[in-house]
Amino acid sequence: MASRTLWINNSDSGRYRFSDEHPFHPVRLELTEDLLSKCDAIDNDQVAPSFSMEETERIIRAIHRSDYIDCVIDLSTDSPSDDAIKQAIRYGLEEDGDTPYFPGMHESAVAISAGSIAAADAVMSGRAEHALHLAGGLHHAFPDRASGFCVYNDAAAAISYIREKYNARVLYIDTDVHHGDGVQWFFYTDPEVFTLSIHETGKFLFPGSGFPHERGDSSGYGACLNISMEPYTEDDSWLACFNQAVEHAARSFRPDIIVSQHGCDAHAYDPLAHIHCSMRIYREMPKIIHRLADRYTQGKWVALGGGGYDHWRVVPRAWGMLWLEMNEHPLLASIDSEPNGGLLPEQWPDISSDKADGPLPKTWLDDVASWTPMPRRKEISEKNKANLEIALQHIG
Ligand SMILES: [Zn+2]
Repeated sequence: MASRTLWINNSDSGRYRFSDEHPFHPVRLELTEDLLSKCDAIDNDQVAPSFSMEETERIIRAIHRSDYIDCVIDLSTDSPSDDAIKQAIRYGLEEDGDTPYFPGMHESAVAISAGSIAAADAVMSGRAEHALHLAGGLHHAFPDRASGFCVYNDAAAAISYIREKYNARVLYIDTDVHHGDGVQWFFYTDPEVFTLSIHETGKFLFPGSGFPHERGDSSGYGACLNISMEPYTEDDSWLACFNQAVEHAARSFRPDIIVSQHGCDAHAYDPLAHIHCSMRIYREMPKIIHRLADRYTQGKWVALGGGGYDHWRVVPRAWGMLWLEMNEHPLLASIDSEPNGGLLPEQWPDISSDKADGPLPKTWLDDVASWTPMPRRKEISEKNKANLEIALQHIG
């Protein structure tokens, strides 16, 4: 049944949790599932199980260094060894850092990779046309260290699996506001994996990379594209650059499958970045990717989650609209035609919202007309366009 979209069950990934105060928190998944169930948008028969943990561990061992994995395993116990605690900083897992170790870290990080591999397998085997795994998208993890809330790189694991088992050409599209550095470096010399990332410029934001001149190396030269955006970029400029870049990449690379990462931290409300986009980009980007998949990959599309730190006001709407788009859900007609996207279900959310950063939104999109336009809009758009032109040189 090729027109189906699968939802990868992420209950085991829910244990990937640093602390209650940490921005990368599983409440983001709960709120999204709650919103979609209030819309009656997930059928039981769309919910698919994860992948074998054993096989996933094998794939993780193939892409991550064994001394790093061994340290993660040690730090995941209730009482890590003194040696592992001493080594933690070297592997990016220090207690007071961005990615602090916690009990159960190894198992839950493997579970996240298993979900992303399950999505890749469902789509490549033809069991589904599209698959979504929202707990995935840990794009900053490196072969030998954790970084930016990411322990194992599930996107790289899923792509490696696709390469190994199906020998397919993968176009990876990363829409998180932070550069998809981990995935880029994993495949920097691989001509069969094209990595594209749109993000706030590394001049001002973690991880400090993703510049237009990063284009891949040796036989992978030209299979890497970085769209570096100025702080305070707004919807029109973001979408124009994104559209032009992905069209160009898909046309020149001719992928067999698209794997996309849907961090939704480029929203103006997001506390960790400086981009000034609205919910409109989270309606439009999935639509653009969907169209590319129809045109170039016979629909084959795996979507993953990612960053997004306004848990209540931004993430559930953004990820909700991603799922709706993957399903060509009838609700999209009203989101596309009613003022500000039409009303969210009245009963949402079920979870108490005292932790929200402000009043919860009532509509799917934002009332952008009430926002103050950025004073340097023209200058910012021109700089973005110039950066894109530089990035596109030498691609196809
Ligand atoms: Zn991010």
